[in-house]
Amino acid sequence: MYKIASPSKTREILKKYNIKLNKRWGQNFLVDPRIAEGIAEATCDAGDEVLEIGPGIGSLTEFLLARSCRVVAVEIDPRLTAVLIEMFENSDQLTVVEGDFLDQDLAELHEKHFSPGRKIKVVGNLPYYVTSPILIKLFGSYQQISAATLMMQKEVAERIMAQPGTKEYGSLTVLCRYYSEPEIIFNVSRRNFFPPPEVDSTVVRFKMLSRPSVMVLDEDLFFKIVRAAFNQRRKTILNALEKSVENWNKKDTAHILKLAGIDPMMRGEALDLSDFAAITNCAVEFLKEKLRN
Ligand code: SAM
Repeated sequence: MYKIASPSKTREILKKYNIKLNKRWGQNFLVDPRIAEGIAEATCDAGDEVLEIGPGIGSLTEFLLARSCRVVAVEIDPRLTAVLIEMFENSDQLTVVEGDFLDQDLAELHEKHFSPGRKIKVVGNLPYYVTSPILIKLFGSYQQISAATLMMQKEVAERIMAQPGTKEYGSLTVLCRYYSEPEIIFNVSRRNFFPPPEVDSTVVRFKMLSRPSVMVLDEDLFFKIVRAAFNQRRKTILNALEKSVENWNKKDTAHILKLAGIDPMMRGEALDLSDFAAITNCAVEFLKEKLRN
């Protein structure tokens, strides 16, 4: 073990390889080994196959490897992939992939590096500037993933865990609850990073569902309705939908809401996933019927 996750070792590695950290890529490294170990514990057990997003200099990676997991780590910064390859050269359990995680074809990555048909675990102390796009990408492959343990800005975790009717509740909450059961593992103070970021963090574990939490007849329409409801949070659901969902007029929207049993005067932010699913499914049936006549 290198015990990378400490302030002195982190400074020593950065000095040795003459690396100036790049703020743009969210390079704030974990320097508390108990936190790195806690994230590894929440992520995997011996023999698991793990995809790590943004390993940095390996602060978390070494704890994943210590738990006898096989790790594929995707890092955007070529200076850091070089460090990782040199530091972990004796580990046949780690594969370092250089590149932007958002550009990776996850099915291809799975085929190349993981056992066929086996679900993987995902972990990452995420670069904050791309938390939402990374979540969207992971949910796009939710059937290949059993769980994702992700550290993110505390406020983003609060949005994910929010209840309907609160100001934190929004499209991100609905997206996460559609594909997963999220749970908070622990909060992490900014003091545990080098250099310290401007915000505190939270580790969230997303247990991926084998199928979405609600049944919808048209997923694109479901997310269009959700976005419309939250883009105009202060409007009634009737006004928000008739103005934002293509080709919906007031009369049809009112009819769809009635079929779905939703009060048209409610605000979108008060609706839960099953309400959004009911609106979607009634809309699909109603619009199909309308086309037929
Ligand atoms: N896992 C390390 C730790 O906990 O100390 C580093 C975490 S640091 C917050 C985020 C890491 O993600 C950095 O190493 C950064 O270079 C990398 N990164 C940033 N954007 C990325 C992207 N789009 N794809 C892959 N890695 C990225």
